[in-house]
Amino acid sequence: MNDRIDSTAHYRALDAAHHMHPFSDMGALNRTGSRVIVKAEGVYLWDSEGNRIIDGMAGLWCVNVGYGRRELADAALKQMQELPYYNTFFKTTHPPVVELSALLAELAPSKFNRFLYCNSGSEANDTALRAVHRYWAVQGQPKKRHVIARTNAYHGSTIAGATLGGMSYMHEQMPSKMEHVAHIDQPYWFGEGGAMNAEAFGLARARQLEAKILELGADNVAAFIGEPFQGAGGVIFPPSGYWPEVERICRKHDVLLIADEVIGGFGRTGEWFAHEHFGFEPDVITMAKGLTSGYVPMGAVALSDRIADPIVQNGEFNHGFTYSGHPVAAAAAVANLKLLRDEGIVARVKHDAGPYFQKRLREALGDHPIVGEIAGVGLVAGIQLAEDRATRKRFANGDDIGAMCRDFCFASNLVMRASHDRMLLSPPLVVTHDEIDEIVDRASAAIDATARAITRAA
Ligand SMILES: *Cc1c(COP(=O)(O)O)cnc(C)c1O
Repeated sequence: MNDRIDSTAHYRALDAAHHMHPFSDMGALNRTGSRVIVKAEGVYLWDSEGNRIIDGMAGLWCVNVGYGRRELADAALKQMQELPYYNTFFKTTHPPVVELSALLAELAPSKFNRFLYCNSGSEANDTALRAVHRYWAVQGQPKKRHVIARTNAYHGSTIAGATLGGMSYMHEQMPSKMEHVAHIDQPYWFGEGGAMNAEAFGLARARQLEAKILELGADNVAAFIGEPFQGAGGVIFPPSGYWPEVERICRKHDVLLIADEVIGGFGRTGEWFAHEHFGFEPDVITMAKGLTSGYVPMGAVALSDRIADPIVQNGEFNHGFTYSGHPVAAAAAVANLKLLRDEGIVARVKHDAGPYFQKRLREALGDHPIVGEIAGVGLVAGIQLAEDRATRKRFANGDDIGAMCRDFCFASNLVMRASHDRMLLSPPLVVTHDEIDEIVDRASAAIDATARAITRAA
């Protein structure tokens, strides 16, 4: 392909002919054509038609430091020139992966001192399971092999990730799943709370974990995995008593607690890790996305000393990837984490940008006729579209209404995602007050337009 391709039509035609998109109806997409994003800076994207788009999702929840940071590009370039690749398998290491590991040990809660690397969040969750199984094996409890997860969770799209995830539409296309995975219901009070108050419901959902552990036999259960708040599932924040109760149950039955921090990690809630916001202590943390702000792919698993020490002391752990601890990714991660720390970006989410964003959203949309609840803290929010707030009545065609709202956002150059009938926002952590105003104004306009379209249709 030597022809110069420089127009939207060209890109669209070649994209339609040769590129399979993730999670997309390719037939439908190819008829309309993809939006071609050509550059980005700060919180803005530009498409091939010259439109400037405000990115209310930080890419896919990952561009925490915003687009266009020279520090990351410089670190990656320097590393590519010095040592573009070497593995960490055969008694070797390299400076970037050492530096990254020491930095993560400093930033993570004190009991996390050892890190395994991979290339994505899905691989991080696979790796976490490998580590958990290894831990129980060296403890002499190999029967502890069942893992409990939740409905409407997202843990990635590898076989293990998708099996752990609780999204039925993914399971439908997966005839073979991983063994020994069980699901309990999600702590989604607005949608599933019925007549219970939120706290009673949160405890009831946590106690499903205990019931499931007893059903499987505590001697057979290795771990429970959960996102501190469900991301792709709709930015669902559990009632405040949920996580402490889950933690209590895990401890009581000696079941390891894995926090999937792929979205929650690296400042999203205003803490370094979302479990710190919710006030519980996991044994294993999986991370990706914000680890490198998405500039290059990388995932990681943090093991608490309790898990890591026996693994380290008991011979070979047969797991790893060609690109585990890739030097360019590690160098970019170090540069990224230093920006988050040294520029006070995480602290600013907690004390300034986060509270401003949450306040503006609630002022603009808290009483909106088709908004049922606004969930979130820091720079992440889920806006529930609903027919009636007081009775928590959802729209019968909620998926269509969410998709319609997202289309209004798309047309007004705001990236706001829909998960069924919840609208999701997760902007870069460097978003300014003016940019927050712009996001909230456009989101409100799109929700107004959605409400008008519903009225017209009725
Ligand atoms: C995105 C995501 C994953 C999967 O990460 P990939 O890098 O897409 O494999 C896992 N868990 C959560 C919570 C995620 O949001």
